[in-house]
Amino acid sequence: MPDLNLIPPVVGYIVAGVFGAIIGSFLNVVIHRVPLEESIVFPNSRCPSCGAAIAFYDNIPVLSYVALRAKCRGCKAHISFRYPAVELLTAALFIGVAWHDGLSAALPFDLVFASALLALIFIDAEHMLLPNVITYPGIAFAIVARIALPLLTGTPHFDDVPSLTQGALTDMPVAVVSLIGAVIGALLGGGSLWLMGWTWEKLRGVEAMGLGDVKMMFMVGAYLGWRLTILTIFVGVLTGSIIGIALMARQRERNMQMLLPFGIFLGVGAVAALLFGAPLVEWYAGQFR
Ligand SMILES: [Zn+2]
Repeated sequence: MPDLNLIPPVVGYIVAGVFGAIIGSFLNVVIHRVPLEESIVFPNSRCPSCGAAIAFYDNIPVLSYVALRAKCRGCKAHISFRYPAVELLTAALFIGVAWHDGLSAALPFDLVFASALLALIFIDAEHMLLPNVITYPGIAFAIVARIALPLLTGTPHFDDVPSLTQGALTDMPVAVVSLIGAVIGALLGGGSLWLMGWTWEKLRGVEAMGLGDVKMMFMVGAYLGWRLTILTIFVGVLTGSIIGIALMARQRERNMQMLLPFGIFLGVGAVAALLFGAPLVEWYAGQFR
C-alpha cells in the first residue's frame, strides 16, 4: 500500500471537493424527492418541466449547470440555482470535514453526518419539514458511530467522552461511556427543543415547532455529545433570532406568529459545532478553571 502521507494535502482537498460535489448531486435528488415520498433510486434524474431524462453529460455537478446556462437542453426551462448551490456547498463541506478529520476512521462517519444535515437544512428551507426517513436513520447512525469510533480508533474520540470518564463512569469501557454520552446528548438536544416548543405553545397558544426539530436534535445530540449540542442550540437560537427579527422588521404588520424553519439554523449550528466547536468549548471551559 502506498504511503498516503506522501500525497500533498492539496490533492486530498481536491479529491474531497470533487467527491463532495458528486454527493451534492445525489443530495439534490434527496432534497427534491424525499418530501414528495418518491424513490431516491428510480427513475433516473428527469427535467421537472418536460420530464426528459437527463443524460450523464448534462448531469455533471456544477459544470453542466454552467454549460447549459441554467436551462434544460430539451425544453429550455430554467434550472434552479439550488442545484449547483447544493453541489458547491457539499463540496465546501467535504473539504471542511477533510480538513478537520484528516485521513482517519472518523472521516466517513463525519461526512455522512454532515451530508444528512445538509439535506435536512434544504428540505426544511423549502418545505418546513424534517422528514423521519432522514432523522430516524440518522439517530441509528449516530448510535452506531458512537460505539464504532472509540473501538476503531482506540481513543474516546467524541468531544464529550473525556468529561464523562472523569465522573462516575471511570472504570467502564470507552465504547460504553461513548454510548451513554450519546443518550445524554440526545436527551439534552431533543429535550431542549421539545421544552422550547412546549413553552412557546403555552405562552402564545400556537404550535411553534414540529417534532421534526426534536428528532433532528436527538440525532445531533447523540452524535456530537452534550457540550457541542449546547453550542449547536446556542448558534441555532442566535442566528435564528437575528434572521427572524430582520425578517419581521421588513414586514409591515408585526406578525409574531410567523413560522421560521428552525431546522435550518440548528443544522448550521451543528455543522459549525462539528467543524469548529471542540476548541471553542475547550476555551470556554478554560475560563472557569
Ligand atoms: Zn426540460
